[in-house]
Amino acid sequence: MTQQFDGKVALVTGAAAGIGEATARAFAAAGASVMMADINQEAGARVAAAINEAGGKAAFVRCDVTRSDDVKHLVEQTVEQFGRLDFAFNNAGVELERAKLADGDEGIFDAIMDVNVKGVWQCMRQEIPVMVNAGGGVIVNTASVAGLGAAPAMSIYSASKHAVVGLTKSAAVEYGRRGVRVNAICPAVIDTDMLRRAVEDDPRKEEVHKSMHPIGRIGQPQEVAAAVLYLCSEGAGFTTGVALPLDGGYTAI
Ligand code: NAD
Repeated sequence: MTQQFDGKVALVTGAAAGIGEATARAFAAAGASVMMADINQEAGARVAAAINEAGGKAAFVRCDVTRSDDVKHLVEQTVEQFGRLDFAFNNAGVELERAKLADGDEGIFDAIMDVNVKGVWQCMRQEIPVMVNAGGGVIVNTASVAGLGAAPAMSIYSASKHAVVGLTKSAAVEYGRRGVRVNAICPAVIDTDMLRRAVEDDPRKEEVHKSMHPIGRIGQPQEVAAAVLYLCSEGAGFTTGVALPLDGGYTAI
């Protein structure tokens, strides 16, 4: 039986956990070969092995997306091992922040911007030429609902995700005629380790998180993965430069 993404190659950053892991698994289940990248070598290699054991095709490369030489190596390895690059999900990100703006820390500002903004930029900078040379491709960047509006006590994170939306729209306009579509996803609260870290110091946040979404629950990483695969599919062929909320209605209020 042929699958939707048979013969295609997908690259996923932040693939060792959460949304990235779920999306790597979903790409593989849809027939794509998946190059997984993360700073967490042990967890990333474990997920890649599990995909291969289940009959999928995956490889793992340790890559810190803030480092240009790591990202260059990642994209080179993708083409060397799988022959092409059709889809890139630039998803690695950090939250790190627990303070209101005036209590913010300069080191945390730099660390968030480095991963969330520079990381996405570094990845696109390496991926786009490969896609353009091959006649096209699709990029999906992970922003957040915090990239569309305010995020109290997470102003640096919010600024970083607004920047991801800006990078996404600009790249979409610059490379649309070269066959490269570029979109961002904007999840609200998703059930991952990032969320668990954020609620560990205040368990009351769990109820708040559920009730902030009109559909009455938080999202699952598999629901985000399904949206990423849709944006990469031919069905989304006329969709580029969008920042798509995946938010149980949160931004509709
Ligand atoms: P997570 O912490 O579960 O997973 C993030 C992964 O990124 C980890 O495996 C981590 O090792 C990796 N990573 C961190 N820094 C890296 C770097 N410099 N280079 C390579 N990999 C790195 O988080 P998640 O919830 O799956 O988040 C994934 C993305 O989704 C992030 O960009 C995050 O900002 C975004 N997001 C998450 C939520 C949520 O509620 N979980 C909501 C909106 C947006």
